[in-house]
Amino acid sequence: MTHMTRLHGLASLGLVATSLSAQAITIEFDYSFDDGATRLSSAQRNVLDYVAAEFGSRLTDTLDSETYGLLNFFDPAGPGGAGIQLTNQTIAADTLRVYVGASQLGGSTVGLGGPGGGSIRSRGETGVGSTDFAPWGGAISFDVDTNWYVDNDPTTREAFSGFDFYSVATHELGHVLGFGTAGSWFSQVSGSGFVGDAAVATYSAEQGSPQGSVPLAGGLSHWSNGLTSFVGGVRQEVALDGTIGFGVRKDFTDLDWAALADIGWEVSPVSAVPENDAYALMLAGLGLLAMVSRRRSAQGR
Ligand SMILES: [Zn+2]
Repeated sequence: MTHMTRLHGLASLGLVATSLSAQAITIEFDYSFDDGATRLSSAQRNVLDYVAAEFGSRLTDTLDSETYGLLNFFDPAGPGGAGIQLTNQTIAADTLRVYVGASQLGGSTVGLGGPGGGSIRSRGETGVGSTDFAPWGGAISFDVDTNWYVDNDPTTREAFSGFDFYSVATHELGHVLGFGTAGSWFSQVSGSGFVGDAAVATYSAEQGSPQGSVPLAGGLSHWSNGLTSFVGGVRQEVALDGTIGFGVRKDFTDLDWAALADIGWEVSPVSAVPENDAYALMLAGLGLLAMVSRRRSAQGR
């Protein structure tokens, strides 16, 4: 099995440029299983690299290199999320490996993502499993039948039609990072709300009054649908609710970042990337989460 390491070039550039990204996490995408006529386009891969760089620049954990006797994850390009197992895989320090592919996800599901399983390693973090999360990576699948908008420059905003690939990639990477999937997420779910300190503080400040928890959707792995927070001071729908509308960009909001901090990530305080809205279903089994399109009366998809 060959493994693409698309971000190695970026990491090298970072070293040359400044110490700015010296502590960043590198998210490397592996497309080994994304074969056939339905594979992701180079434009889609470019958007993924952009999203990975955005996350990586704000996550400042130091993760040990680890060799895993077993990695397992769902086949991102296979029908029905068939399982894949790889043995004796080494994940480099400060790196997450994410297997990505395109598949027919069915219904209105536009994306599917979650952390991988297999051998557990702490990667040098303490409290993994209860208060922290240190995955080797995971897998993300994008629906091949969705009418995608693939932005050739995510730094600019323009009107578009289609479901925003950038927004869905951001959402699914959130699940890989443990949002709605990690043990340290579920240890902070109480009733139908998330009670992590950073998220509750952010939510309380945004609501203008003390809140006991941040409301979650039914599966307890997404924010309540339509919840809003801020990106750069602008209120918008959170990235990690479960639906996305047609023609809508959803960035990772302050509340989404706060949850990652509560899960155990060290998040640099820079204000994050922007996005749109999303809604998803939790699938049984592997902790996979699907994101579905929200039908709009005029357009559907
Ligand atoms: Zn989701």
